[in-house]
Amino acid sequence: MALLFISDSDDPVEWRAALTKRLPGLDMRVWPDFGAAAEINAVLVWNHPRGALQQFPNLHAILSLGAGVNHILDDPQLPSHVPIARIVDPALAHGMAEYAALAVLRYHRNFDAYERFQREHRWKRLPIPVATQRRVGVLGLGEIGSACATAIAALGFAVAGWSRMTKSLPGVKSYAGPEGLAPFLAATDILVCVLPLTAATRGILNRDTLARLPRGAFVINIARGAHVAEADLIAALDSGHIAGATLDVFSDEPLPRDHPFWTHPRVLVTPHIASLTNPETAADGVAENLRRLAEGRLLLNLVDRFRGY
Ligand code: NAP
Repeated sequence: MALLFISDSDDPVEWRAALTKRLPGLDMRVWPDFGAAAEINAVLVWNHPRGALQQFPNLHAILSLGAGVNHILDDPQLPSHVPIARIVDPALAHGMAEYAALAVLRYHRNFDAYERFQREHRWKRLPIPVATQRRVGVLGLGEIGSACATAIAALGFAVAGWSRMTKSLPGVKSYAGPEGLAPFLAATDILVCVLPLTAATRGILNRDTLARLPRGAFVINIARGAHVAEADLIAALDSGHIAGATLDVFSDEPLPRDHPFWTHPRVLVTPHIASLTNPETAADGVAENLRRLAEGRLLLNLVDRFRGY
């Protein structure tokens, strides 16, 4: 069995070391040097060249190098019957929860204002708000969203989450389905987006939904850039309806140098680093799936192509 690694942004040397520690005999090849196409049984991919996976007649598993799979499902020539599995790694979720908690606390404790005051050499104190009275809403309560919601609830915030199906997470109020979205947004002071990018969630943060947040709400997007209608967000920031946005992901990455987000006074930009897949921790799940593939067993963390996540 041969595994083909395809990524411009992940290190094949680190992945080879992490995987061969767990699977000593592993035959891992690195794109574009894959040898005989018929020998490739599995691919481990991030943003593979569109159409590339069609050429492997014995491909039985497509493994994502990230938690998201929109970079795979976007391929119009994706082999239609090969199972797709994604990374589920508590360390990855922990990194996302750290970022979400940090961004929530930055707004909650007015650090965005103090950063401005410092630039103006201004000694000015603002009231210290009460966490239990600050409502944080997490869009998406999956592996990562639930870790974010739980971590933020542990800091004392009033936390709610929105998902397709109702959830029961300690300290987290659950809203579900399309009908749950408007009441969820109306009760959210700080919004954290951790949804997968699918046909149903693309552009979900737009003029209408942003308008449903209370005036002065904050937006934190750590999911995918295309969840946000960027022009609508800028208009909502300029009107003062949205008080600030922390954005880790963008429709076009790297964010173009002339993009208005870079210089907007109410936007904090980070370069898609909310969390990164670490081969040392994520290789356990990939190795387990390769083992399962070799034994003809069902893969873990399978993606439902119809739902898109
Ligand atoms: P997941 O476990 O599949 O969870 C997805 C959650 O979104 C679930 O709670 C699901 O609801 C909900 N959802 C999906 N479609 C929905 C819809 N139409 N309406 C309402 N809720 C919907 O995914 P995950 O592992 O938490 O990852 C989430 C995303 O985070 C990834 O897809 C990726 O894009 C992003 N991510 C970003 C970074 C970064 O560094 N910025 C790093 C890792 C991941 P149900 O539970 O009811 O199914």
